[in-house]
Amino acid sequence: MRDTFLPFSTPTIDDAEINEVVDSLKSGWITTGPKVKRFEEEFRSYVGSPFAVALSSATAGLHLTLLALKIQEGDEIITTPMTFASTVSMIILAGATPVLADIEPGTLNIDVNEVRKKITPRTKAVIPVHFAGQACDMDPLFSLAREHNLTVIEDAAHAAGTEYKGKRIGSLDSISIFSFHPNKNITTGEGGMVCTRDEDLAEEVSLLKFHGMSREAWKRFSASGTPNYDIMLPGYKYNMMDIQAAIGIHQLPKLDGFIDKRRTIAEFYNREFADVVELALPAYAPYEQRHAWHLYTPLVRVEQLTIDRDHFMAELKKHNIGSGLHYKAIHHHAWYRENMPIADTDLPNASYASERILSLPLFPKMTEEDAADVVAAVKDVIAANRR
Ligand SMILES: *Cc1c(COP(=O)(O)O)cnc(C)c1O
Repeated sequence: MRDTFLPFSTPTIDDAEINEVVDSLKSGWITTGPKVKRFEEEFRSYVGSPFAVALSSATAGLHLTLLALKIQEGDEIITTPMTFASTVSMIILAGATPVLADIEPGTLNIDVNEVRKKITPRTKAVIPVHFAGQACDMDPLFSLAREHNLTVIEDAAHAAGTEYKGKRIGSLDSISIFSFHPNKNITTGEGGMVCTRDEDLAEEVSLLKFHGMSREAWKRFSASGTPNYDIMLPGYKYNMMDIQAAIGIHQLPKLDGFIDKRRTIAEFYNREFADVVELALPAYAPYEQRHAWHLYTPLVRVEQLTIDRDHFMAELKKHNIGSGLHYKAIHHHAWYRENMPIADTDLPNASYASERILSLPLFPKMTEEDAADVVAAVKDVIAANRR
């Protein structure tokens, strides 16, 4: 057994990021400024989107996008139960009603046929999540959205670098929201980005992110700005700092290399686990794509073991292997069970995955030995707890 703990994820930060942060700290310009502008420009250009607004988090991006779209009480927004809570929480905090559509059993992405069943005259938008970095099937989703006049908002928190049929996520005809939390494929410490083709929407998100001040107000203390400013509407405080963008500027050029490393490890897991009947491995969608491999999430077939998934994770930890839980399905969380109860039979695939899923270690700095240690530990835990 390995003698050091292997976490399920850890960011890759080199001297370039560190020196750029130090440069910001020494420059006297710490908060939103030229580095945020540069990061927006470079990220926008990488994903292929005309407009990008950097924010303090993807959660802030979801919140402001819904506000900018004038989503209101009585509106319904369809999303997946297999996501981080903030996707659904922001729908509720924007005053609308979340409607959960079940996932596909293999990819764990939202099932477009299930979305279709949930559409009502009150439905305003649909939020697919590119689960684990694998693109949802966007073509049928877009045609469904056109048919019913719905806005598509991509929760692209896992999908920096993901491609769907040759197009990068961020360049499709929708709004996409990326996360730079430390576990994500690139990080800014905390941070997010809203990418859109709609200039008015980008402008509205920009206003809302910083007190409702006009767009160039961050310059008001610089030589090229004026100290006077106008509040155009009551806004939030969701801006990204230059200290954060300093990290992102040096992460972005490494993203493709990070994805290659992640894919190598994921394919190693796929080979090593191919004949382990107690695991259901993540499935590839049949269309042309680039999977960003944000997560590697097998399902543990608990029926074949004497232990449940949580116990399985605890056993892995005893082998010094960390794991993550992405995700306990939304309707299994306390608030949702209490306030919008949904029977497992209404979301059978998400409910099934929720009890069995775990995230194995997957990050660019992992070595081949690390990955082999994970495989050995998983096989050990299965062998020791077979029914
Ligand atoms: C991480 C994550 C978010 C939230 O991102 P933050 O930047 O932490 O706010 C939203 N949705 C999904 C699917 C995520 O994984």
